[in-house]
Amino acid sequence: MVDGNTLLAVLCVTMVMSLADRDVCHDVTVVGGGIGGTYAAWKLRHHELNIGLYEFSDRLGGRFYTYRFPEAPDIPIELGAMRYLTQKTNFSGDLSSLQKELPFIVSDDNASLSDQTISEFFSKYLSDEAIEMVTNILKFNSHNPTAAHVLHFMPENFNVDVYMTISEGIQQLPEHLVKQFIGASRNHSVHTNHQLISITRNSVDGYTLGFMQTVTSDGKTSPTSQFISVCSHRVILTVPPPALLQINLETLQQRHILSTLKTLNYHVGVKVFLLYDYPWWRDHLIKSDIDSLNSYDSLHKCPKLKNQYSNYYDILHSGYTDNRYDEHIRPTLISDLPIDMTLDFGISNRTGRAVLLAAYSVHDLWSELQKNGEKLNLGHHSVSTEVVRHAHMYLAKLYNINMTVIPTPTAGVISHWDQYPYKEAFSTSKTGVDKETVWRTIHKPSAVDNIFIASGSYSKRTSDAWSEYCLEAVEGIISTYFGNN
Ligand SMILES: Cc1cc2nc3c(=O)[nH]c(=O)nc-3n(C[C@H](O)[C@H](O)[C@H](O)COP(=O)(O)OP(=O)(O)OC[C@H]3O[C@@H](n4cnc5c(N)ncnc54)[C@H](O)[C@@H]3O)c2cc1C
Repeated sequence: MVDGNTLLAVLCVTMVMSLADRDVCHDVTVVGGGIGGTYAAWKLRHHELNIGLYEFSDRLGGRFYTYRFPEAPDIPIELGAMRYLTQKTNFSGDLSSLQKELPFIVSDDNASLSDQTISEFFSKYLSDEAIEMVTNILKFNSHNPTAAHVLHFMPENFNVDVYMTISEGIQQLPEHLVKQFIGASRNHSVHTNHQLISITRNSVDGYTLGFMQTVTSDGKTSPTSQFISVCSHRVILTVPPPALLQINLETLQQRHILSTLKTLNYHVGVKVFLLYDYPWWRDHLIKSDIDSLNSYDSLHKCPKLKNQYSNYYDILHSGYTDNRYDEHIRPTLISDLPIDMTLDFGISNRTGRAVLLAAYSVHDLWSELQKNGEKLNLGHHSVSTEVVRHAHMYLAKLYNINMTVIPTPTAGVISHWDQYPYKEAFSTSKTGVDKETVWRTIHKPSAVDNIFIASGSYSKRTSDAWSEYCLEAVEGIISTYFGNN
């Protein structure tokens, strides 16, 4: 995987080259450097095209955003996405009954795991490149005799609802994709600090894209007055819906397109991370103990995110699914503390400091509290003292201890995703919206134009709450309109 400095060096060189080359028209311009945009660029890297990837901020990853406290640099903190859900079999998760269950374990197409190789199993759910990537990351041997064989490697607390994380932080994934994209051809380029504001059809080459140069200071990105125009034959837009709605593009103004673009509800998703001199919480019993939702470390490669508390609906027993509103289910509410979820992010091997995700919350409360009090430390993401005070109030309730027992954190960060280019952390489609229609209408909004919109919010799942949905949208567009290479 590429480290931050290497990536920066690659980007700077690319930037210089591309500025000198501005009169070259891109074959494809990908707008948005999140996982959707970087994946699209990566998928097209061997198509012998001139591809430009443009990103609003100075950072690649979008809502894949890994932060590190300087005082605990070896603990990646995820301000946005943090895990993958990997449940594709009917295995109970109880390793002690593995031998008994083995003959009956099937993938979700009802094929026995013992009758398929791990490659066959993966190929049902992933593209060839994704299989290669997963195999590289997880170090599974894809030639294992059967897919069932892999289950023997699962750690002891392996669970049905398996969340996987990436050892050096989830932002490594888009960074790694971009490194390979750049390495695949001299014709590829990456341009950070470019905000797309308009697209117009031009008579000769296809489209003229209007960008404002932006500057990022202390993690905050703002536009400058410098306008840059870029020519491109085809355009893939992977920006979040609120940013998409602000792009001046005639096609998007058509009534049926505009009304479909607006079929979304937006949802709060706030994370509050606190850094302490020691993991004080490990000395106390947890009021609500939901071990079954524990994240785990795959072959000890990933951070151990130990679930401390979650008031989520009891998803295991409710049969929670994507179409939960259609099914007759009865979820159980475990608690109503507004911290929603608390995770132990671990202790730094280098400094001994400990990181707690005090709240991963869907409550507006935290954004309101953030407006009050002093900043605890330097930096755009610094948490306010009021957030800390309230977090401690709720953590005291959670652990059933006196608030004074909780030590003062030495640092803290909060992410709330409520500024441009986001409006909230996630969107989901409004009730009654037909997902197929949304996908058909939006992914190529004009029959005559080569402009594509790849977003989980307008995919067949109509949500960007899980990144796999935007990846599916990218896959759909590339396989239909760009062919395989
Ligand atoms: C708090 C939180 C927790 C989450 N947890 C998970 C999780 O555990 N697992 C999971 O799979 N998913 C999770 N998600 C969802 C996941 O992060 C998203 O589905 C995914 O990152 C969306 O990727 P994207 O590339 O479509 O958009 P984004 O990541 O939003 O990327 C869009 C990019 O476009 C850029 N951009 C915007 N406007 C412009 C413009 N005008 N010009 C140029 N560039 C522009 C932005 O700066 C950004 O970099 C979480 C999200 C949040 C916020």
